[in-house]
Amino acid sequence: MEEVKTNIENLIEVKNLVKYYPVKGGVFRRVVAQVKAVDDVSFSIRKGETLGLVGESGCGKSTVGHTMLGLIPHTSGSVEYDGRSVLGLKGEESKEMRRHLQIVFQDPYASLDPRLPVGDSIGEGLRIHRIGDRQEQFEMVQRALKNVGLEDYHAMRYPHEFSGGQRQRIGIARALVMNPKFIVLDEPVSALDVSIQAQVLNILKALQNEFGLTYLFVAHNLAVVEHISDRVAVMYLGKIAELADRKELFKEPLHPYTQALMSAIPIPDPRIKRERIILKGDVPSPLNPPKGCRFHPRCPYAMKVCAEREPDLLEAAPDRFVACWLHQEHSAEEGKPLEISVA
Ligand code: ADP
Ligand code: MG
Repeated sequence: MEEVKTNIENLIEVKNLVKYYPVKGGVFRRVVAQVKAVDDVSFSIRKGETLGLVGESGCGKSTVGHTMLGLIPHTSGSVEYDGRSVLGLKGEESKEMRRHLQIVFQDPYASLDPRLPVGDSIGEGLRIHRIGDRQEQFEMVQRALKNVGLEDYHAMRYPHEFSGGQRQRIGIARALVMNPKFIVLDEPVSALDVSIQAQVLNILKALQNEFGLTYLFVAHNLAVVEHISDRVAVMYLGKIAELADRKELFKEPLHPYTQALMSAIPIPDPRIKRERIILKGDVPSPLNPPKGCRFHPRCPYAMKVCAEREPDLLEAAPDRFVACWLHQEHSAEEGKPLEISVA
């Protein structure tokens, strides 16, 4: 009998995560509005996998990454790491948890102190967490540098002496030195030249294999996550629109938004033609997201129901999730095409 894999081990479990940024105004600096940056997002990340998180700039990807590690306070929801709650921890417990969960920022230059030799920046977490003595910390920093393809003597140099690609390696070394289990990679290659991107992606892949790391890989472009992700979650305006195995997603994107993102990826083979889907209008503001499906004002297939009711992220096929009325039950009346006037 065929063995059914029922219990895939999840390392990270994000449930109904919400992050609203308050907007203050008036003389009394009262909260006058909320930026709904992340609005009820749930997903899990399996041990050793890379989950890609993709969507246009401003859709809430960084907010997901930062809130799930507790770097900024969340509004509601929960995050579990290996069955233990991550958010709302205090003191020692919070410190201990943070060791295992690291982040690499898009712009490592902004997160490195220009006055410190990079060895000191890399070792900062070790000192804060009082891991090892001075000599051991020194050795751990040296090892981290080596693991990202840099040399011992680089520890003594300052951030401005490095190229963009090298700085990003330093950012990775800083996360790696803590011996983490999970790393949020927040657009780690977006600021780099294409030729350098591949090198950094290869390093990340190699480190994942060597140390059994689990990644959340954030990118604004589907092409970047195509080679590194096992599964991909597509985000639109604070919500997950689609989540699927990378191969399935690239073979047949189900959500019209994923289809549009996919159509923007150039195909190297000139014999294959792909029609570029140009979305109408701009991304709406997360201050006041559209009613119903947030994507409906820009969707080429919008129906009556899409403007009225929000679709849930439901399993459309085994292990394939999509939040779209094209893939969910609705009445014939609700399925009538929606006429949208684009100003
Ligand atoms: P992404 O990483 O996908 O580009 P972000 O998570 O940075 O998106 O931002 C999501 C939304 O939240 C955007 O509309 C952004 O302007 C808003 N936002 C981000 N940080 C703050 C903040 N500190 N205060 C208010 N709004 C914010
Ligand atoms: Mg971002």
